[in-house]
Amino acid sequence: MNQITTNLPTAELQALDAAHHMHPFTAGAELAAKGARVITRAKGVWLNDSEGHRIIDGMAGLWCVNIGYGRRELAEVAARQMEELSYYNTFFQTTHVPAIALAAKIAELAPGDLNHVFFAGSGSEANDTNIRLVRRYWDIKGQPEKRIIIARRNGYHGSTMGGGSLGGMSGIHKHGGMIAGIVHIGQPDWWSEGGEMTPEDFGLHRARELETMIRQLGVENVAAFIGEPIQGAGGVIVPPATYWPEIQRICDKYGILLIADEVITGFGRTGNWFGSQTFGIRPHIMTIAKGLSSGYQPIGGSIVCDEIAHTVGKAGDFNHGYTYSGHPVAAAVALENLRILQDEHIIEHVRDVAHPYLAAKWQALTEHPMVGEAKLVGLMGSIALTPNKETRAKFASEEGKVGYRCRERCFANDLIMRHVGDRMIIAPPLVITPPEIDVLIERAWKSLDECHAGLKADGMFVAA
Ligand SMILES: *Cc1c(COP(=O)(O)O)cnc(C)c1O
Repeated sequence: MNQITTNLPTAELQALDAAHHMHPFTAGAELAAKGARVITRAKGVWLNDSEGHRIIDGMAGLWCVNIGYGRRELAEVAARQMEELSYYNTFFQTTHVPAIALAAKIAELAPGDLNHVFFAGSGSEANDTNIRLVRRYWDIKGQPEKRIIIARRNGYHGSTMGGGSLGGMSGIHKHGGMIAGIVHIGQPDWWSEGGEMTPEDFGLHRARELETMIRQLGVENVAAFIGEPIQGAGGVIVPPATYWPEIQRICDKYGILLIADEVITGFGRTGNWFGSQTFGIRPHIMTIAKGLSSGYQPIGGSIVCDEIAHTVGKAGDFNHGYTYSGHPVAAAVALENLRILQDEHIIEHVRDVAHPYLAAKWQALTEHPMVGEAKLVGLMGSIALTPNKETRAKFASEEGKVGYRCRERCFANDLIMRHVGDRMIIAPPLVITPPEIDVLIERAWKSLDECHAGLKADGMFVAA
């Protein structure tokens, strides 16, 4: 076979891709017929594809490229680390400097007594760790029947068996089933489920489902609650202000462990180091991944509080771990990423420059005839598409059809904006500048206009 390089014609690359590469969360046959978009290079917030398009990445890859693409410092750190110590494990009473340095740095950045890090290769793996860790903790505490973890419908916690079960997405549960001992309560999505309630009342109402569920199951059977400070993959669902304080109150009252899945909201996305700080949440465990390395290396982990780490540590071996837990190259790259976030004041840039600049323009999208609500926390935003803003109506077409059409227009206009159902979402690299935000917004308006015109022409701009 000829060597496969970016110099091959796009159609050839697409044919090889279709023949041999199974894509995540993708209808393989449909993609094979259409041909995948081939991304070739990236720098800052800009992607290049094999057909010469210059695309603005409104999603930071998959919510992960916080410092932007193509930073030479990270490449250099990786090369140096590979030469010095390309791999060693952290099992069997050994360690190495990159894992030590990264764990110490994360402990310094994390709030409260979240002082211990268990490394994984991804967010899904870290959530699998969390399931075992909280159950192990209660075992040691002499309460082995405390095993159930309460999560939320339309939450996302990864797609391994554990992560996929914690998540509340029926589409994932349908493909392979769920593990036992996980139950779901409602999500705080006021726009689509709040009915006639005020957002504040609805936030309390949804949080109190946690208390009802704990009572129903018996607190002696409940280990933990897990939630994302802001649901990401579920459509950037920003909970009403009343929600998290009530969840915190209930977790405190019943003494159940609180896990904040910060895989997206960690490392600056919401304008603080962690989303828990933005929402005043005091978790016992945080799940991290994505922005930890800005996607330059696959790495995730669990940041664990003193009480759990000390309890589990004193009780003998914790029979869990990954070959690549604390991988030296990934750890060294993550550490350099954190240095850049800190030294270049990127979180301050989000808070003081990029968020305020984008917020005004994002809110203005609600003047578009098909945009209902617009939400933006830090650099994580969503807009709800609707045929009727007053009634918050859904479209008559199957949910997601309109969102997909809108995403197609965005792609055609060289903007990466994703859809979740009929919500459009963004989470650009945190380094995005005001002029780049102007480009993003201009392309978003154009795409919405084209989508709107297309729907009207096809008789699809109608409520259910
Ligand atoms: C992406 C994501 C995960 C899963 O992380 P992977 O690295 O894809 O395994 C878990 N939780 C949340 C909140 C995520 O957004």
